[in-house]
Amino acid sequence: MSDLQEFREEVRAWLDANCPASLRWGAAVGNEALGDGLYWGGKKERSAATDAKLWLDRMAARGWTAPTWPKAYGGGGLSKEEAKILAEEMRRLRCKPALVGFGLTMIGPLLLQYGNEQQKSRFLPEIVRGEVRWCQGYSEPEAGSDLAGLRARAVRDGDFYVVNGQKVWTSYADKSDWMFMLVRTDPDKPKHEGISFMLIDMDQPGVTVKPIKLISGQSPFCETFLEDARVSAEHVVGGINNGWTMAKALLGHERSMISEAFNESEDKNELVSAARRYVGVESGGRVADAALRDRIAQLTMDKLCLELTLKRTKEAAKLGHQPGPEASIFKYYATELNKDRSALLVGILGPQGLGWEGEGFDEDELAHTRAWLRARGNSIEGGTSEIQLNIIAKRVLGLPD
Ligand SMILES: Cc1cc2nc3c(=O)[nH]c(=O)nc-3n(C[C@H](O)[C@H](O)[C@H](O)COP(=O)(O)OP(=O)(O)OC[C@H]3O[C@@H](n4cnc5c(N)ncnc54)[C@H](O)[C@@H]3O)c2cc1C
Repeated sequence: MSDLQEFREEVRAWLDANCPASLRWGAAVGNEALGDGLYWGGKKERSAATDAKLWLDRMAARGWTAPTWPKAYGGGGLSKEEAKILAEEMRRLRCKPALVGFGLTMIGPLLLQYGNEQQKSRFLPEIVRGEVRWCQGYSEPEAGSDLAGLRARAVRDGDFYVVNGQKVWTSYADKSDWMFMLVRTDPDKPKHEGISFMLIDMDQPGVTVKPIKLISGQSPFCETFLEDARVSAEHVVGGINNGWTMAKALLGHERSMISEAFNESEDKNELVSAARRYVGVESGGRVADAALRDRIAQLTMDKLCLELTLKRTKEAAKLGHQPGPEASIFKYYATELNKDRSALLVGILGPQGLGWEGEGFDEDELAHTRAWLRARGNSIEGGTSEIQLNIIAKRVLGLPD
């Protein structure tokens, strides 16, 4: 048996013995399509005694919440081939990820790439163990697409920076312990050159978080106010006034993460199953609507092409390759495709796809409606589709401004 085959057998046996039944996809824990039952960790997490925490602790002890990160920082130290096997076996046994969040997908990879030794040893192990939850302080009221127009200001004061300003759309700031953020450190330099990337402890008097209530009643976003908040000078990543390079690198990780999220749909035949149920079947079992069959076939092929292209790009990437402007292609394509796909699914459901709550709709129907509405945010967060097209035009295709 090859080493990798042996590794696969070991992983399979360990996962099966250690992943609690309630942490397998399909176990009833609320609305799975919206991420219910996933564990984000952090000091404000309330479900410390649950199976989710047990699963996290077991996976973190092996470093498998961050399988490819170096063991020195608490990661699993797995090769790409081993990490692929772990992911495949988790999918096979329907194990949910033990931990999700911006620590693993955004700030962790950035620190591995640009952090100094002290920052890596300080922050990475606690991310792996899910002890600290992170949020992203990029957008401001006047700086979204034009991110480099940001105005939150940081001024040096001894061993610290004093920060004043406002961030907006800070997802889960009210549940986070730390925030990675962009601030202006030199207002006299051209706008891209006077920005720094800093890590700020949210648990201090100068940081106020106000959830923004949406029409749905949920509050995934917050406004974050910084009034004489303090950041240790040790927590500037990548050097002072070098924040724009950090911002772009991190957005590369964010855009890859968003596009890959659609690569892992649990039910590949979801559209067909829904069409059979709500539209009906002809003799022989085909969906009883030729135009709908065409649309489903097209979208299914598009999704498969995306999945294969993502896979090919990953496998072809040289060791140490980091996502660059080409991440915009995937981010644009994946999020637009997901909007089309979820709109078609809700269309197939007809009036049953328009339920918000209450009797008359089953759990799947409510999940599809909410997933359809949530999908619209995917082509805005991490930079809108228009901005991705601008980046592709300028930085991938080299077209003139
Ligand atoms: C679900 C979700 C989660 C988010 N989470 C976070 C978070 O955690 N942290 C954070 O910092 N931010 C977050 N954001 C904010 C997000 O990054 C911004 O909404 C996004 O960058 C767009 O900025 P804006 O909302 O200010 O829109 P604007 O920049 O005002 O854009 C408005 C419209 O104008 C278009 N437009 C603007 N400039 C151009 C141009 N040059 N060319 C063509 N079209 C243009 C845009 O495409 C858009 O359609 C989140 C947003 C969403 C939807």
